[in-house]
Amino acid sequence: MFEQIERVPGDAILGLIEAFNKDTNPQKVDLGVGVYRDARGNTPIMRAVKEAEALLLKNETTKSYIGSHGDPRYGEVTLPLVLGADSPVLAEKRASATQSPGGTGALRLAADFIKSKLPGKDIWVSDPTWPNHLGIFPAAGLTLHKYPYVDSDNRLDFDGMLGALKQIPQGDVVLLHACCHNPTGFDLTREQWQQVLEVVRERGLLPLIDFAYQGFGDGLEEDAYGARLMAENLDEVLITSSYSKNFGIYRERTGCFIAIAKNTEQMENVRSQMAIVARENYSNPPAHGSAIVCEILTSAELAAVWRDELTEMRDRINGLRRDFVEALKPHGLDGTFAHVAEQRGMFSYTGLKPDQVDRLRDEYGIYMVRSGRANVAGLSSENLPYVTEAIAAVSK
Ligand code: PMP
Repeated sequence: MFEQIERVPGDAILGLIEAFNKDTNPQKVDLGVGVYRDARGNTPIMRAVKEAEALLLKNETTKSYIGSHGDPRYGEVTLPLVLGADSPVLAEKRASATQSPGGTGALRLAADFIKSKLPGKDIWVSDPTWPNHLGIFPAAGLTLHKYPYVDSDNRLDFDGMLGALKQIPQGDVVLLHACCHNPTGFDLTREQWQQVLEVVRERGLLPLIDFAYQGFGDGLEEDAYGARLMAENLDEVLITSSYSKNFGIYRERTGCFIAIAKNTEQMENVRSQMAIVARENYSNPPAHGSAIVCEILTSAELAAVWRDELTEMRDRINGLRRDFVEALKPHGLDGTFAHVAEQRGMFSYTGLKPDQVDRLRDEYGIYMVRSGRANVAGLSSENLPYVTEAIAAVSK
């Protein structure tokens, strides 16, 4: 039977990693891969995580199943982090948390829930968006459409976005990036979030908020602005959150699907369905990542260590954004790339064209996605002069 199976090309980013590893240029720089890097180019285990793991190893008493919704403590620490400790949504008991295998798993739960329980609803994602969005929703049988997000001058196309949202059929699902938009780094201002809220309310859309980078933009609370605005002002909102980035526990697959309903009764109804959706996918979520998160967030001491480390990571990224633009000043390019300092999160739509990206790779050993998306965390004070010289050279 398998003789009819065609081989498909590998993931573009994986191909980039392979090409980077083969490159013998001693000055090569990887701005492609989507994980945080410290100043030495490593993706280290956070101190708070190491300490939590040591405690777990000593105190863990069972490896039994944790249930389809996951560890109840995990929901109890995740909901206030995402929605705010004083959230009226929590006081009103209309939010439910289902632990998931990463943010990706939460998105798949959302997709399956929409497909089976909200039949006929399509999903709308930004153009561009995280490429996996384009796979997850159709894989679950949903019809996917795009709304504009970036214009041809590499700026946030907010008018285009809002105009398109106003045309979406009543009741469809609209995916919004809570912060640190992947791949562009362009985030909405508070006023723009307000305008989106109004359109979503007018058209009775269901927002699905992908929250994969809380704390990587402006701060844990600041980054939650849009998600909380929606949750507090609408009857129904879905949120998919991830601890992959802000705890650096990518491979532990630690995410959460959050459903917000009009009241407790409806929330419990949705919650009961989510247990089935989870069970039919993978039964129970993995428990190590959630145990780490619970250990840290229920200890004032470990939580403080974690917050400091997260602040360090965020400050490093935002500092690099400013340094990047500063280093382009002598080349007269600080205006051209000024947006890089304004964007948030790990990624930047630099505005570099595919032929420039190719030249950076072939002539300088600098690797990024052909769309011009760079992982800012791949920069460092050591490689910044080299990278900016090279960008100046290919920009002539
Ligand atoms: N959403 C976005 C926008 C992302 O960038 C990512 C990770 N790259 C995810 C969701 C999922 O993250 P994970 O499954 O690793 O938690």
